[in-house]
Amino acid sequence: MSPSFAEVVFPVPMDKVFHYTLPAGMSPPPPGTLVSVPFGPRKKPGVVVGYSETSSAPADRLKPLETVLDPQPILSPEMLDLARWMSRRYACSLGEAVFSLLPSGTKAGHRGKVKKSPSPSSLPSPSEGRRDNDIPSPSEGEGQGEGKTEGRREFTLTPDQKSALENIEGAIAARKHSVFLLWGVAAAGKMEIYMNAIRKVLSEGGSAIYLVPEISLTAQVLPDLESRFPGQCVVWHSGVSLSAKKAAWGALGSGEKRIVLGARSAVFAPVKDLRLVVVDEEHDSLYKEDSKPRAHARDVALERARRVEACVILGSATPSLESYKAAREGRYQMVELPERILGPVPRIRIIDMKREKKDAVLSRSLKTALGERLKKREQSILFINRRGFYTYCRCPKCGWVLRCPSCGVPAVMHKKVMRCHYCIFRTTPPEACPQCKQKGLWMGGMGTERVFSEIEKEFPWTKAVRWDTDTAGKKGAHAQILETVKTQGVDILVGTKMVSQGLDLPGVTLVGIVDADVALHRPDFRAGERTFQLLVQASGRSGRRDVQGDVIIQTRQPDHPAIRFAETMDYRGFAEEELLNRKELGYPPYGRMAQLIFSGKKEAVVETEAQEFLVWVGSFPFSKTVAALGPAPAAHARRAGKARVQILLKGDGEDFTQAVAVVKSYRPKHGVKLLIDVDPEELR
Ligand SMILES: [Zn+2]
Ligand SMILES: [Zn+2]
Repeated sequence: MSPSFAEVVFPVPMDKVFHYTLPAGMSPPPPGTLVSVPFGPRKKPGVVVGYSETSSAPADRLKPLETVLDPQPILSPEMLDLARWMSRRYACSLGEAVFSLLPSGTKAGHRGKVKKSPSPSSLPSPSEGRRDNDIPSPSEGEGQGEGKTEGRREFTLTPDQKSALENIEGAIAARKHSVFLLWGVAAAGKMEIYMNAIRKVLSEGGSAIYLVPEISLTAQVLPDLESRFPGQCVVWHSGVSLSAKKAAWGALGSGEKRIVLGARSAVFAPVKDLRLVVVDEEHDSLYKEDSKPRAHARDVALERARRVEACVILGSATPSLESYKAAREGRYQMVELPERILGPVPRIRIIDMKREKKDAVLSRSLKTALGERLKKREQSILFINRRGFYTYCRCPKCGWVLRCPSCGVPAVMHKKVMRCHYCIFRTTPPEACPQCKQKGLWMGGMGTERVFSEIEKEFPWTKAVRWDTDTAGKKGAHAQILETVKTQGVDILVGTKMVSQGLDLPGVTLVGIVDADVALHRPDFRAGERTFQLLVQASGRSGRRDVQGDVIIQTRQPDHPAIRFAETMDYRGFAEEELLNRKELGYPPYGRMAQLIFSGKKEAVVETEAQEFLVWVGSFPFSKTVAALGPAPAAHARRAGKARVQILLKGDGEDFTQAVAVVKSYRPKHGVKLLIDVDPEELR
């Protein structure tokens, strides 16, 4: 008997399937097929996910499944299953999960068969990689410490690499799902292992996916991949055009092309016979999606690979504590590459800024070290992970701070205007405090502009370049700065973390981290971990090749574990201590977490809604083991004019999964919105 009703999903937040009748004579299209069907007032692309014998919808409301956009299913049963897993894991609707697997833009017209129609509920297609707001966070567009230089050379593998590779190749040949945590400092030769593992996969007739945290990094890896595996590679990320993706879709599905390189959406690439996923810089928070379904590409990669018995290589110099713990418990195989192949490890010095001149930007040691580099004609990089000049304007008498009226964050000085880093708000600092009328407001804090102007003041003859989203934000500007640096040279590069990308400065022998405390101050249980990662990654930029580099870290908290362990680059020491803390407080990776953000115009209303939610959620049996903490103001207590109140769910196992499923269905009243971020990488 033929099935009666096709179940179709759309990219809408309603977690249900919609039923359509099959017109007489139509053979039921297989699940995973893209169709166009009446939905509300117009026709809308949807995906068939299954069939049912009965429907609860009234017969006169049922519409026929009219147009099959492509007889070939766009999603395999395996990928549909992955979407089901995602909708459970990340608290989104099945439709949202299904459509996130398709190249963005598919809903507007797959293979040109549907006219483009403005579709108000079509999913946003967030660009991957750097968040465009400038949250002072170490995740701002991180590059990697290795890449370019080592890849192009012909390598003889070290004994460490050899045994690591043998292990990995064995697992690939055995077709057994295994996860390898490849832990190696910058320039320890991780990429060489990835490349060899991919070679093994291709020799077995399989396909591989190679993930990098950010789009710009694909440009660093691609030449190497292309030269080793000519004609086999497809680049896949949100910046790739829909038409290019459609072309690639076919070539990947048929196995004509077998390597996909890309940012997080590449984890969904429809490759034939997936045998390996490489997740480089696996600790990077950019792998977590910023919009629904808020999936973590690393975790999706692990899940997808598990289902098809493929291998996963997670690579990092500073693995996430999640991965480190899994390796320690034997769930992943830890592969260590302790040696730095290119040159000796840098010397690291910690400078206590409490002992420097008040409000100093550069410590005496850093100034001296910069001067020495200039004399020797060597290059230096100064990291400051915040844009702008002064980062706040404050009243010395009453403590009033100039904030963005709609976002609540302190406005940041750029040239002569104060700007909000979240929205377009601009203003000039007032003459007097609006609260207590005190004249002479204080400017404080520092961003890239201030550090840069300090360099111009201290070393007026030097060639310095500032590199952040203000100077390199526009299309092409990145390349232009790079060109300047290449052709005219540069003595000192001042920038946010993005200076480490797309840029190979072989002459860098000094890295200065101007304010290591920026990331430490975030109200986030991962603040320490992020700071440690940032320090180690930045340090890896110093002294490549044959010269030992220097690193100077400026901080006001020299005793903080993240700083202390960074001094000796002691990842294991840091990880063990941090894990103890997490365990004690029940934070991930001990247990899981979901951040629920209630937002709305009026703070009191939002607060009440959150309170009501707490009472509601407390009535479920899972609330015995799943804690609901809050309500409390979110880290960004206001954003775009909305008050934001958070509740944290902490728990584990089946109870936690159930809590997420239940919360997904909750609808606050009075226009209050609820955002659910499961396994958040950053509490915002
Ligand atoms: Zn005041
Ligand atoms: Zn704002």
